[in-house]
Amino acid sequence: MLVVMKPGAPQSEVDKMYTRLMQTGTEVSVIEGTQQSVFALVGDTSKIEVGTYAANQHVEKIMRVQQPYKMASRIFQPQDTVVEIGSCKVGGGHKAVIAGPCSVESIEQMVQTAILVKQYGATMLRGGAYKPRSSPYSFQGTGEEGLQMLVKAREATGLPFVTEVMSVETFDLIEDCADLIQIGTRNMQNFPLLKRAGKSSKPILLKRGMSATLEEFLMAAEYIIAGGNRQVILCERGIRTFDNYTRNTLDLSVIPAIKEVSHLPIIVDPSHACGKWSMVEPLAKAAMAVGADGLIIEVHHQPEKALCDGAQSLKPEKFGKLMTSVQRIMEAV
Ligand code: PEP
Ligand code: MN
Repeated sequence: MLVVMKPGAPQSEVDKMYTRLMQTGTEVSVIEGTQQSVFALVGDTSKIEVGTYAANQHVEKIMRVQQPYKMASRIFQPQDTVVEIGSCKVGGGHKAVIAGPCSVESIEQMVQTAILVKQYGATMLRGGAYKPRSSPYSFQGTGEEGLQMLVKAREATGLPFVTEVMSVETFDLIEDCADLIQIGTRNMQNFPLLKRAGKSSKPILLKRGMSATLEEFLMAAEYIIAGGNRQVILCERGIRTFDNYTRNTLDLSVIPAIKEVSHLPIIVDPSHACGKWSMVEPLAKAAMAVGADGLIIEVHHQPEKALCDGAQSLKPEKFGKLMTSVQRIMEAV
């Protein structure tokens, strides 16, 4: 971290700053320029509250050299994290395909979908029992009953399942039955929820916030890891841009970018990224081509009757076709 003093800052203020910086426990070097003084801090600066130094009227600017995330960084852990969900592994060369409906609607829907997506090669099942909906008048999910339907679908197929948690209050309930716990886009910066996830014994699927930068995304993961849970899978699901032809814009570049700076696995959700079933397959192929560790895809047996996100849901046969072409891309890569 660099602390740049203003040109002409009184020597007494420069000295005071030096004394203060020495108390941070880092190694402090002073670079005396002709116009101004610069302090270079070497060591763990992640706990330093930058604002308290930037507020000093004699400070021109503070520049961070180190990333603010530590445990999520590849410097901290050079080898890829492999998250294990039963027999399904994600990361370090292991790929996973998670498929299922946006929302859990009925036991028949869940069991039938689970059987079909398994046949087509999915390694995990998805289904939201607690749904984050933009409108309070929209279907809000089947809640606790929905969780039981997911349990039944797992019993019928052996597929582990992921489901979303929206609040600290329902965390225990979901943790008791889910194999992988999803923290959705809208809650990526729900800090109490992230802290609770850090104490969980279950792996966490953390979806990128709608307008979260790569740094904010990794800082959210840092909350979970710093809390004690290292089993975190990231998920790129499209971000908000100026374009509204698609529901969101799939940020493919974040995948190689995350791979450079972090050891965490990252999967892609092409369904929420585009919002249109016809675009899910091409985006899924692109995601695997740029090195994603897997996919999460919405599949519904009757998309026209789906209670949530029907327009972006694939019919099971279409999902089967996607799996064949994605397989080819993976072999080619
Ligand atoms: C979902 O996976 O059903 C969901 C609501 O996703 P997101 O948080 O990415 O919008
Ligand atoms: Mn959905």
